[in-house]
Amino acid sequence: MVQVGGQIDTQVVIVGAGPVGLSAALRLEGFGISAVVLEQEQVLPEDLRASTFHPPTLDMLAQYGVADELIAQGLRCDHWQIRNHDTGDKAVFDLSYLVGETDHPFRLQCEQFRLCRILEARLAYARHVQICMGAQVVRVDQNDTSARVVYEQDGQECTITAKYVIAADGARSTVRGLLGWELEGKTYPETTILAITDFPFEEHLEGLSNVNYCWTEGGTFSLLKLKDFWRCSLYPRGEESIDDALDPASIEAKLQGIVAREEPYKVLEIRPYRVHMRIAPDYRKGRVILAGDAAHINSPSGGMGMNGGVHDAFNLTDKLHQVLSGADEGLLDLYTRQRRPIAEREILAQADKNRSRMQERDGERRKAMMVEMQAMLSDPVQHKAYVMRSSMIDGLRKAASIT
Ligand SMILES: Cc1cc2nc3c(=O)[nH]c(=O)nc-3n(C[C@H](O)[C@H](O)[C@H](O)COP(=O)(O)OP(=O)(O)OC[C@H]3O[C@@H](n4cnc5c(N)ncnc54)[C@H](O)[C@@H]3O)c2cc1C
Repeated sequence: MVQVGGQIDTQVVIVGAGPVGLSAALRLEGFGISAVVLEQEQVLPEDLRASTFHPPTLDMLAQYGVADELIAQGLRCDHWQIRNHDTGDKAVFDLSYLVGETDHPFRLQCEQFRLCRILEARLAYARHVQICMGAQVVRVDQNDTSARVVYEQDGQECTITAKYVIAADGARSTVRGLLGWELEGKTYPETTILAITDFPFEEHLEGLSNVNYCWTEGGTFSLLKLKDFWRCSLYPRGEESIDDALDPASIEAKLQGIVAREEPYKVLEIRPYRVHMRIAPDYRKGRVILAGDAAHINSPSGGMGMNGGVHDAFNLTDKLHQVLSGADEGLLDLYTRQRRPIAEREILAQADKNRSRMQERDGERRKAMMVEMQAMLSDPVQHKAYVMRSSMIDGLRKAASIT
């Protein structure tokens, strides 16, 4: 389908082969819509990012037989908790309340690159979709009938024309920049330090879930289990600089603060990252439509960024299918109307609330919050309502009701 250096036509160009771009590609293949995915990297990135898949995302992927393969590579999480590490007091959120609302009433703990690998393997035999690796998009022009995407590959400048372009090229989206848009919002002051260890915390901390957000004296951390290791989110203490906090001795001290042991911890990977709460002013300009991190970024607390992006991809490809089958192009604005407010109110705002709760340092406030959460969880109606929202089912239903 693609001739390097030549002019070709396809119905859709997808920029970026992350979880969002590849989910969109899978959908378009299913609809029989021709698409080319342009990915700047030579091989799919495998850096440790999202690790939580929420129930509706698994329901969506199940339509393509992808969920079971992913579940086999991950860890089922039937409950998650907010915990005071010093007192052992906890609020446990039970996902079995979701039975009957989803085919997957649990969170799946699994690295996002595993989804990308599965999707790439599926698409290797696609009839309508082609993935072009090492293809960096540098320019996008559009007119009334088509969009022209210019990319660099193997030192050559190549051009491809399409009816529509999905910009799924991540938080630093080149395409969004070319549209003249920036993500609006804020960046939080703290830097999170992700430390991966194979230490079995579950054998030392009583009643741990596979996902735990923890308060500790003067600080906070989270422990998220993956199949073979724990991923610990740590934060600089007091006046500690980022460089000092990244020092192995500082990480060791923080891990010893979680479970003290004689042996040093084996830390397999360390990764610092900043957290943002930002959204694009619009999701569509003519034939170019943003999805995933290109459109919105949020605190990973609650694990909603990638999930929301995959939900964008499913919603948008539905609309593109209809428009390419003859429906009015204005239908593409319904994608923005449905997905942007949900990202703003359900994803960014909820992630912001989750982050603030865990950043609370005042002991009395923490105690009051814990009592409030425990009271809420003791009421089945409120408990179910909470997990319907935190599992992103509510947001999707609200989006579907927007016309
Ligand atoms: C530490 C951390 C933990 C997280 N945890 C969670 C979680 O548990 N759950 C959750 O839902 N989310 C989580 N997230 C967020 C999640 O990782 C992102 O939301 C997700 O990666 C977004 O997917 P995407 O496909 O939109 O973008 P990306 O994954 O960033 O993919 C974009 C792709 O586009 C390519 N690209 C960029 N520019 C170009 C160009 N010019 N031309 C061609 N290709 C280009 C990139 O190489 C990349 O492959 C986490 C993020 C971090 C950093």
